[in-house]
Amino acid sequence: MAANLYVHFPFCRSRCSYCSLYSRANSTAADRERYIESIRVELESLRVRLSSTLTDPNPTLKTLYFGGGSPALCDLSPLRVPLKQWKKGQTCFPLFEFTVELHPLDVTPAKLDELKSIGVNRISMGVQSLDDATLRAMGRGYTASDAARAFALVKSHFDNAGIDLILGYPGDPTTRNAEALLAPLANWGLRHCSVYSLQNERGLKGVPDDETVLDGIKSAARFLKSIGLERYEISNYATPGFECRHNLAVWRGEDYVGLGEGACGRIGLARTRNWWGQTPQNPNKHCGSATSVETVSEKEDLKERTLFRLRTRDGIDSSRFPEWRPALDRFVAEGLLTKIGESVYRLTERGTEVCDSILEELV
Ligand code: SF4
Repeated sequence: MAANLYVHFPFCRSRCSYCSLYSRANSTAADRERYIESIRVELESLRVRLSSTLTDPNPTLKTLYFGGGSPALCDLSPLRVPLKQWKKGQTCFPLFEFTVELHPLDVTPAKLDELKSIGVNRISMGVQSLDDATLRAMGRGYTASDAARAFALVKSHFDNAGIDLILGYPGDPTTRNAEALLAPLANWGLRHCSVYSLQNERGLKGVPDDETVLDGIKSAARFLKSIGLERYEISNYATPGFECRHNLAVWRGEDYVGLGEGACGRIGLARTRNWWGQTPQNPNKHCGSATSVETVSEKEDLKERTLFRLRTRDGIDSSRFPEWRPALDRFVAEGLLTKIGESVYRLTERGTEVCDSILEELV
């Protein structure tokens, strides 16, 4: 049995104006060191924990994803030893994917060497915009040229590298003119690109309407296609063969384990959510075992694992859910889904715009 593992690092240089993810900007080097030590201990014991949960005496890692926050704010080298233990005897090693999210300001030759030394083979860099005024308003702390230089340095160490972008930030001209304003990316050598629409959970003023953002996303999709990146999930584009295996595993309904504050997991029927934040009673608790475990029914489990696939170009197989058929066939008639064979349904381009409401109806 192979595991997909996500490790969360809740530290940032500063808080970006649009972000509502769980992270903090005021950590000290000592905080981060303690956190890494907790993760190291967790990684060492995880093998034992998984071999009992998964009833496999020798579980292997299929994918590993370090996300945040900004994982690279931490010295990750103490994790080299437990990660090496995991990789020993990996039968699926050629398939192993180890991604780290990077902030452009964290990109230095020394950091990239450190990432190589712990086995990282894929980089996802948060660029968000190529418009300097927007980057300033977001509080990102770099310009578009800084980001281009950082990405070139990443590419000199890791071929499998991509970026994240956000459309719909107030005043960002990219939303209305994505094809033209993203054009410099044609020379970056992108293997992957995620394009998200702003989730305005911080209540920013002047956000463009949904239709404008959707047009921006279509325009970005056209541009990415023109440079060889195919859409394989609602928000994700890749050169064929460079899709994010970790996220695909989650969308395809595989188990995944979450380590670190705020991380979630799905193992069999269990859904786990780790402890969030510090309390006066426990100021030094950094991460650790899941604090909440919910057990779902077998039917709910199958439903969740099946539905997630609708986001991808795999589509969903309705053969175990005949009760979905009338709604799915109606979506086909409305041009939102296409039917493949007897039971598989896939989003059309129009369907990708309303995937959430389709899912809501099926849940
Ligand atoms: S660096 Fe990332 S996680 Fe941190 S505040 Fe900015 S967007 Fe959020």
